[in-house]
Amino acid sequence: MNRTFRVRILGCDYDLRPGESDELHSRWGFMSIQKREIVYATHMDESTIKDTVFHELIHVADLATSTESNELTEQQVMRIGAVLFGILRDHDSLVEWLLKKK
Ligand SMILES: [Zn+2]
Repeated sequence: MNRTFRVRILGCDYDLRPGESDELHSRWGFMSIQKREIVYATHMDESTIKDTVFHELIHVADLATSTESNELTEQQVMRIGAVLFGILRDHDSLVEWLLKKK
């Protein structure tokens, strides 16, 4: 996977893009509220990349709704991300119903 997206979160646009090794520093992904970007490593299988992107989206949601810095711990972000993404991944009809316009 080597795709870029523009993701709107609480009215702010974030660039979601593959990262270079010199900016990732062995991480699977990272996000920056200041730069409005979410960056992921591409050396992993696609399922792991998607897990990583979802994880970073949780970090953005945490920071974008926190009064100071992040309020969720890394463990909390990992658990929320794994559970929510698992629900979305395993329930196509639920996701379709949730996102249906009418
Ligand atoms: Zn994290």
